[in-house]
Amino acid sequence: MEVEIRGNYDDTNRAFLQAFMGRGQLSIVESKKILASIFSVQSGQAVAPEEVTKEDLDSYISAAADALSPLDYEIRSTFHQQTKERVYAVVNSISDPLTQMATTRTSEEMFYIKRLLDAMFETYNTKRKEVMAVRDMQALEKKVTKGSGRQDGEDNSQLAVDKGLTIEQAEKLLATLVSEKWLEKSKENFYRLSPRALMELRGWLLEAYNEETDDPDDWQRIKFCEACKEIVTVGQRCSNLECNVRLHTICQTAFWNSRPSKTCPKCDTAWDGKRYVGQMVITTTDEYLQGRRRSGGAKNSRAAAGDEEDEEEEEHQNGTSRTNGRNGAAENGERNGGGRRNSRRESPEEEEDEEDDEDDE
Ligand SMILES: [Zn+2]
Ligand SMILES: [Zn+2]
Repeated sequence: MEVEIRGNYDDTNRAFLQAFMGRGQLSIVESKKILASIFSVQSGQAVAPEEVTKEDLDSYISAAADALSPLDYEIRSTFHQQTKERVYAVVNSISDPLTQMATTRTSEEMFYIKRLLDAMFETYNTKRKEVMAVRDMQALEKKVTKGSGRQDGEDNSQLAVDKGLTIEQAEKLLATLVSEKWLEKSKENFYRLSPRALMELRGWLLEAYNEETDDPDDWQRIKFCEACKEIVTVGQRCSNLECNVRLHTICQTAFWNSRPSKTCPKCDTAWDGKRYVGQMVITTTDEYLQGRRRSGGAKNSRAAAGDEEDEEEEEHQNGTSRTNGRNGAAENGERNGGGRRNSRRESPEEEEDEEDDEDDE
């Protein structure tokens, strides 16, 4: 583009930064769309997103970063764990992100967010099942919405106000968190942290959920990709339950190409690529697939083109065939089939506990 921005920060930069802040995080495609409309207005003629060059984008990102730095914000980027797209986010570089967020939320909302994170990273992130995501109905369960849940003793100042949220308030907050790009909601209705949240909360998550230890082999709740070293909340795991090695699915091709054999780099266990981290821990189980079929999930199966769904059609991650356990599955189907969208009173962890034993090998 012929747009001159070097050296002077002008209205186009301000417009870009404003759009960026308003969206919370931006992919390259989104950034180029925004810049194209800014350039169109500025030049008085239509500029297509494809005409926006990488240099344009880089210069606007770096000008935005310069403008933000006196305010203790910086721009970071990471790869989206599913789409592999580069994603930019404005990240507070100094203060505790939850404190930061607290300026725009009520304390009840903050407590709810903390309990939601606990659900993601503790309740549904166990040694055997690293789901690291919360189904829509789980996010509205009493133990998450009700106040006086577990609080780490440090924040005494806030203890008095934890009254909890109503279902309606929680639903509204969840929608806001999705629109602000803190959370993503998958088409299977799981909430997980967005790239923005993972970047912003990285240090906080490690502090809150990982143990301090001198032994790098100790199991930890938050683990990193062996290839790119970013947090893995969606990807693959070593089938050795004691082993901490994780890999993004998007990182695996390059990683295995660089290795002599497809075995875990730490414990040497064969890597079959069917041990998951993320919602696929649930969505690849017999129970889930049966339930989905029984619920006549036209609306679900239609979405099969997506990133994770294509792998769902493959073999069950425990190696058990999908046709076994008809009876058990039918029973589970009673409980969890028939519209996972509607029934928020189910307690899905029961169904998950049942398969725990299968993971033992
Ligand atoms: Zn990775
Ligand atoms: Zn291993």
